[in-house]
Amino acid sequence: MTLAFNYQTSPSRILFGPDGLSKVPDVAEQLGCQRLLVLATSQQKQSATELAASLNDLSVGFYANATMHTPVEVTNDAMQKVVELQADAVVSLGGGSTIGLGKAIAYRTDLKHIVIPTTYAGSEVTPILGQTEDGAKTTLRSAKVLPEVVIYDALMTHSLPQSMSITSGINAIAHAVEALYAQDKNPVSSMMAVEGATALIEALPLIAKDQHHVVAREKALYGSWLCGTVLGNVGMALHHKLCHTLGGMFNLPHAETHTVLLPHATAYNAKEVPELLAPIADALKTKDPGKGLYNFAKQLGAPTSLKELGMQEDGMEQAVEQALSNPYWNPRKLEKKEIHSLICHAYHGTEPA
Ligand code: NAD
Repeated sequence: MTLAFNYQTSPSRILFGPDGLSKVPDVAEQLGCQRLLVLATSQQKQSATELAASLNDLSVGFYANATMHTPVEVTNDAMQKVVELQADAVVSLGGGSTIGLGKAIAYRTDLKHIVIPTTYAGSEVTPILGQTEDGAKTTLRSAKVLPEVVIYDALMTHSLPQSMSITSGINAIAHAVEALYAQDKNPVSSMMAVEGATALIEALPLIAKDQHHVVAREKALYGSWLCGTVLGNVGMALHHKLCHTLGGMFNLPHAETHTVLLPHATAYNAKEVPELLAPIADALKTKDPGKGLYNFAKQLGAPTSLKELGMQEDGMEQAVEQALSNPYWNPRKLEKKEIHSLICHAYHGTEPA
């Protein structure tokens, strides 16, 4: 078969290693910035305060009200602070919620954006911005939302509770799984997906035993960078569509929803493209990637049912309809009966069909 592909590298600079926070002044200087506004969620306010204080005159303060799914009213509120304080860069210290706010500000202002990720969701390396207004979530793609610099320091993830570390790590694995069968996959994205998923599959059981496992935390963050990179590189399919649809309809938590649905979406597509998913099965030391992911999550104590996340059973039919409307490209044809069965299994938390 002829080898032909389209591959675009990202302009973001990646700095990986210890002492991440101490790198911020040099990074700011290289970007020509002198008035940094630190962003965080209210739960990570303390870390934001400390970072802003450590930056001395380089920081104009912090805004610690970032919120899941980037509500436009929060962005508008933060924008007032950006203008009032005459910030010339934002520093996102947090997970996808904080990074989403930083991206939304960068999109509106073209301000420089430095990110210090503290979860494994991977938003920091994608040109994707999801925003919510009047309850509706819209997504845009723009090079403007790619941060200039991402500073990865595994120490920043040690405080992420074990349960959230597991679900966030499986959220990252989901990007890799779908990248392996993406319509626009290429040899580099597939290589990164296998390396990223394998790193997380090796690291998460160690983190489940020891929250502060230095080597595992480093490996998981490395895997998360690779998995996030492929999310930004190639198109996602059934699994991400299901997460967006069900997450939005029932207001389900992001990483947990990915964790519950991934084994089922993987099993669905493994029937069509088993050879493309073989590296995931290999990493899990099994033959069946769907069941392997299900057992992996279960053994790590992660949620396995949409019921426990708050989905209502009487919304099942509507969920199936929504999941099938405006579908993303998928390697296996979407059959209504099969998708209904998939969501039923995920709702009850039973093994994938
Ligand atoms: P999050 O950023 O919402 O974080 C979850 C909670 O954990 C928050 O309360 C946060 O403050 C806390 N937290 C984060 N890191 C911590 C740490 N190290 N120690 C202690 N507490 C910590 O969770 P997330 O899963 O990273 O992000 C979810 C959001 O990101 C969703 O809105 C999702 O749509 C978005 N997302 C976007 C992309 C993209 O490419 N645009 C990719 C992935 C996720």
